[in-house]
Amino acid sequence: MAFSSFSETTKADLAQVIGERPCCLLSELAGFARVASRLVKEPGGKLGLEIRTENAAVARKAFRLVRAVFSGTVGVSTRQQRRFRRRKLFLIRVPGELNKVTAKLGLSNRFGHSLLGIRRVFLRRECCRRSYLRGLFLGGGWVSNTGEGYHLELLSPSAVLAQDIVVLLQRFGLKARYIERKNGFVVYLKESAAISDSLKLMGATGAILSLENARIFREVKNRINRLVNCETANLTRTVEASLRRKNEINLIISQIGLESLPLELRELARLRLVHPEATLKELGQLLSPPVSKSCVNHRLRSLAAVAGRLRRSAGGGPREGS
Ligand SMILES: [Zn+2]
Repeated sequence: MAFSSFSETTKADLAQVIGERPCCLLSELAGFARVASRLVKEPGGKLGLEIRTENAAVARKAFRLVRAVFSGTVGVSTRQQRRFRRRKLFLIRVPGELNKVTAKLGLSNRFGHSLLGIRRVFLRRECCRRSYLRGLFLGGGWVSNTGEGYHLELLSPSAVLAQDIVVLLQRFGLKARYIERKNGFVVYLKESAAISDSLKLMGATGAILSLENARIFREVKNRINRLVNCETANLTRTVEASLRRKNEINLIISQIGLESLPLELRELARLRLVHPEATLKELGQLLSPPVSKSCVNHRLRSLAAVAGRLRRSAGGGPREGS
């Protein structure tokens, strides 16, 4: 997955947001651990839970959350990753007996059987739903504002969790989908408005502002580009078409002469040569009596057909280029 600075900035921004109630602190840590924790063997051989992140601000946040939710010493270490451009990985060890830790975080039931989805206790209150979502994003989220439009993704190790995340987003009125990737599942939002809404829900203010600004800027830029491109394209098309018509008319003149054409075609051919840059509409107005643009177009096609016949009867010589 590509690293985007916008994503890192958004995460750093969200790392500053901390829920006020204990229920929210637990929910956020649960969301975080759901996607960013793994079991590790402790020096004594016992298994423990470790939370991992590459973002320093997010690591500090995880540390704060773990300390707020669990008692005991929170172990923190770093590791240089060999893959992924040698990025530093922060490891936060959750203190306590594994079964109790995983049960509290909703990773297992109280008998130690692992659970895949989101436990309902974290979704009961709106404050907790937002916190859980923020945890999911900090632990396995990614947002980009480059290329064509915006993209927000939430990693999910299982289809069950992916479905639960889609439902969670639905409860906020956000339409999300999920797909399977090589290393798991990905829940995604595509519409810029939904993305900025979801960031707002999680509490990111700075990111929202830059997202909205960038979106407005992009929209204005696109609109201007479209206008410019359209006009350039139209102009090019007009000039090219006009050149083609001129070649056709000259061919008619040299082969059979304009006099052999019906009157309305003859008049139009003459005007086309005299006013090469005039639009079809303008040519129509120059004719007497004036005719519509589509009528001019129709007559020009008749002229092209005459030229085509002449070209073919001339022995299939090289086609006149445009
Ligand atoms: Zn809460």
